[in-house]
Parts: sequence; structure tokens; C-alpha cells
Amino acid sequence: MLRKNRLFTPGPTPLLPAAQSAMAAFTAHHRTPDFRTLFQRVLADMKQFIGTQNDVLVLACSGTGIMESAVSNLTSPGDKVLVLTAGKFGERWTGITKAFGCNPDILSVPYGETFSLTDVRSKLTSDIRAVFVQATESSTGARHDIQAIAKLVREHGDALLVVDAITGLGTTHLDVDAWGIDFIIGGSQKALMMPPGLAYCAVSECAWQRMESSKSPRYYFDLRRERKSAAKGETAYTPATSLFAALGAALDFVRSMGNGDVAKGRESLVNNAELCAEMTRAGVTALGLKLYASSPAAALTAVTSPNGIDSGKIVKEFRETFDAVVANGQGEMKGQLFRIAHIGYYDYLDTVGILAALEQVLARTTGRIIDFGSAVRAAQEVYARTTEVTLVTQ
Ligand SMILES: *Cc1c(COP(=O)(O)O)cnc(C)c1O
Repeated sequence: MLRKNRLFTPGPTPLLPAAQSAMAAFTAHHRTPDFRTLFQRVLADMKQFIGTQNDVLVLACSGTGIMESAVSNLTSPGDKVLVLTAGKFGERWTGITKAFGCNPDILSVPYGETFSLTDVRSKLTSDIRAVFVQATESSTGARHDIQAIAKLVREHGDALLVVDAITGLGTTHLDVDAWGIDFIIGGSQKALMMPPGLAYCAVSECAWQRMESSKSPRYYFDLRRERKSAAKGETAYTPATSLFAALGAALDFVRSMGNGDVAKGRESLVNNAELCAEMTRAGVTALGLKLYASSPAAALTAVTSPNGIDSGKIVKEFRETFDAVVANGQGEMKGQLFRIAHIGYYDYLDTVGILAALEQVLARTTGRIIDFGSAVRAAQEVYARTTEVTLVTQ
């Protein structure tokens, strides 16, 4: 059969056509009124998208660039920090904090799990200067309870809370200001439905104050400089102008999902991801497969490979038969699980389609007799139960 290439990966994610054409059409120089107008509109909309009154910065880099900037701007060598890690992205916090000379205390739980709040509380001694965590751990599909973790951090001294929400933003309800998240991070190639190349953050007043005394080296990622320029409607260095045009179009799409309101559109986008994820979990479990994460995120569904089958074989079958790209496990998890994303530009047909494909893929890779339609039926039932309130079509 004819095959269409489709991404079901937790970043990069499928592109919004309007973002692609906005990019292709954009030619303005960055020190012009045209760009300034776009830039200021995008920054204002980004506050709505993130759901914060804090300053938002958008930089040309991948998500890891902003993760590094959180460490270099908010810590000094020798600082005791707490890293909560449950997967490959949690381990990235450990690596970055060590690279900048911090002294990380690490609360680590096995892949697929999330943190016990009692353990988090016991690690929060008064000398902890900052806490680093993911909202959703994309390597395992786990969701962490950021609201509860934030509450614990607030109760203990003056530690700043830094949340990598690179796959959390746009897939998870996060109340940044009410919960007291000091530094939250997102990336363009996730829920914003555009190519890689931009990453963004929202920074609290406490975090800005910390930057004044922190002593780690930084230059391109000196966020104070970027903040000063942004206040004048400019970037400190050459921005990725065409990606800003794509971002403007993506935010317009989110606005249209909210009938003219970006914040409402973000809520719809989150509900959309939640519904795609719930349908997928129902479909996968109806096939007798197990979810890898104990508290699964809406960003993606990680599925444990059935006994004795290397998940690479499943990933390969998806690609070769249907040109659908699902993700294998990362690092030590390679071969053990596969991951289906729901971040950003996914709809009902994508969700039902990938589950139908999964039925075929399992039949081919396991040799088992598959009850065709069982995954799709389970997803249909979820959809029928929930649609009136949550479905967003565009
Ligand atoms: C995608 C992702 C990142 C950032 O990765 P980059 O490749 O640097 O953009 C960081 N954390 C999580 C949880 C992610 O999903």
C-alpha cells in the first residue's frame, strides 16, 4: 500500500502546516519594525501558552541549551542542589549540574517510576539551593507530580524549583505561578508543532534575583542580557527569525483552538493530548501489552515490549510496513519498550490509525493470533465516553 511518513516520536513531533509555510515565507531582517512586532507578539502569547506572568525568553538552541542556562544562571560552583531523576532526561540534570561544579544530591528512582513525596521531603535540607526535575520523563513516559513537589520545595528554605517541561508544556496542566515554579523550560519541537531550533523558559522574580549573585560562567546564555534586550523589543543576538515566524503561526493555531484565547487553546491542546493518551493506553492494554510507566504521562505512552521480542523489531515493523516512526527505548531501555507520542499536532485519526497499525505490527512480530479491532475498539469506547467535553478539532 501507499504509505505516508508520520512521526509518533516524543520530539520532533509532526509539523503544523501553517507553521511550515510561515517559516518559508518569512524574510525580514531582525532589526526592523516587522520583526520587532512579531517578536513582541510571540513573547506575549508565550506567556499565555505557558500560563505565567513571569518573563518569558525564547532562544535559538535545543531544549538542552535552556537546561544548561538554568544551571549556569542560577547556581555557583559548590552549590548543593537536588536532582530528581527517573530516566535519561533526569540524568541530564545530573550531568549539567556536575559540569558547572555543583554538588548534586541525587534522588533516583528506577526507570518507569516516579518519586515518593516522602523521599523528596527527606532530601530537602535547608542548604539545597535549587531543585531540578522533569514534568514528564520522555524516556520512560512517566508523569511526575509537579504540584506536590513544588509545594514541598516552597515549604523548605529558599530553594529554586527548575522544571524541564519540554514535553510537559502543552500536554500537562501546569499552574506555573500558583505552584511557584521558578524556572520552566519548553522546546519548539514538542507541543508547539514546529521544527527543532527554539527553546524557551519562564523565569520568576526569585530566579532573576539569584542570577545577580550566581558565579557560574555564561555568555550567550546570560539570561539577564536577553531579558534587557527583550524589554526593548529585541533579542541580544541574531534570533532564528524564520522559526519565530513559525512560532507565531503555531500560537495563532493554539489561539484558534481556544476561540481567540491562547490560554484556553493551551488547555484544549492539553486535553487533546490527555484524550489521545487515554485512548492509546486503553488500546495497548486491550492487546495484553503492559504500560512501562506506573504514572503515565499524556505526552507519550511507553509500552513494554512483549516477552522475548526486541522492541527494535516492533519499531522497524512500524516503519517498514506503515512508514510510522515510533521511538525505541533510550540507552539501557533500548529493546525493552517502544514509545508513541501524543505531543502537539495529533488527532483522533492519528490515534486510531497507530493503534490499528499496532495490531498488524504485533501479528507480524510476535506470530500471535491478534483479535483485530480489539485495540481500536477499546480506544473508540474511550473516545465515545469523553468527547463532548474534550475533543478539539481543527
Ligand atoms: C526533548 C527533551 C529534552 C530536550 O532535548 P533537546 O534534544 O535538547 O531538545 C529535554 N527534556 C525532555 C524531557 C525532553 O523530552
